[in-house]
Amino acid sequence: MTRDIKQDIEHWVPAAIRALSAYHVPDPGNCIKLDAMENPYQWPPELVTAWLERLRTVSLNRYPDPSARSLQQALRTAMRIPDAIDVLLGNGSDELIQMIIQTLAAPGRVILAPEPTFVMYRLIAQVVGVKFAGVPLTDNFQLDMDAMLEAIDLHQPAVVFLAYPNNPTGNLFEAKAIRRIIEASPGLVVVDEAYAAFASDSFMGLLGEYSNLLVLRTVSKMGLAGLRLGLLAGPPAWLGEIDKTRLPYNINVLTQVSAEFALEHRDVLDTQTAQIRADREVLLKALQAFPGLRVYPSEANFILFRTPAGRADKIFAGLRERGILIKNLHGAGGALTDCLRVTVGTPAENSAFVDALRALL
Ligand SMILES: *Cc1c(COP(=O)(O)O)cnc(C)c1O
Repeated sequence: MTRDIKQDIEHWVPAAIRALSAYHVPDPGNCIKLDAMENPYQWPPELVTAWLERLRTVSLNRYPDPSARSLQQALRTAMRIPDAIDVLLGNGSDELIQMIIQTLAAPGRVILAPEPTFVMYRLIAQVVGVKFAGVPLTDNFQLDMDAMLEAIDLHQPAVVFLAYPNNPTGNLFEAKAIRRIIEASPGLVVVDEAYAAFASDSFMGLLGEYSNLLVLRTVSKMGLAGLRLGLLAGPPAWLGEIDKTRLPYNINVLTQVSAEFALEHRDVLDTQTAQIRADREVLLKALQAFPGLRVYPSEANFILFRTPAGRADKIFAGLRERGILIKNLHGAGGALTDCLRVTVGTPAENSAFVDALRALL
């Protein structure tokens, strides 16, 4: 080989991409996995059998239905999407975030979100080559309205992303504040409801009211993370534009058939998510009983907590040694200094986590 790959890469890969690191997911090994907001429950065996029977009908030699009509209809019903509102499906809601940003990407454009929040808004903006502006949340992780309105006025953002409830903080922002942001925003406002199954409020019903509001959902956190399926709901005119950035057949046939099957048995998922919501309260109380921790309220299937100063890394590592993987947010710095995030698992998993934590505090 005469060519120098390193030189080629430096020449051809833009500096902005070279500066990024690929999204890292730690290998859980044999750990109890409480790091990724997954539903810990499997399906009952008879449901698995019925699902495998359904999969027999799939023609793997054919391309899938390009717009997944049948699945769309099932999702419309399950997620109570208003009739006048259109739906766009993505390979996870991550792909929809990418499509939204790609649709509006142009020199000088800004994507805006409060921070700390879901990191993919910033990461995807960087990959697509659009500027990202983060506006700090208040000390108790609410929207800082003066700062938000000022930033919207200054940047005139193409899109404002609001995770509702927010990840990794777990809280719902005030609905009135979100409405003000929708009204003040010159561009789109995407309310990301990835944790809708665990939350007490939603903006889905307000879609008809604001022409610049889009609502993002996913089936990942409600128990189907392996399928990779997200949903964007909004005015047909906007979704028609965003649809142009979608790669053909982005929802594979196994996902289409399996998600539709799962929605026919929604009661199973609903029972599981109700169990998780109840266990979240038990886990919250257990964490609040530790004197050294500051525990944040949650409307999602995870809980954020702050360890005594300077101890997050050690506690995280100690949990890992005891076979429990959670998420260490300390490295993100800023408002997340000393913070760890635990996903609500089964009662046994939650107890194992609490016991291990007790031994470490
Ligand atoms: C997990 C998460 C997503 C990503 O969901 P996928 O559909 O699995 O890509 C989107 N938004 C928020 C706020 C999340 O926490």
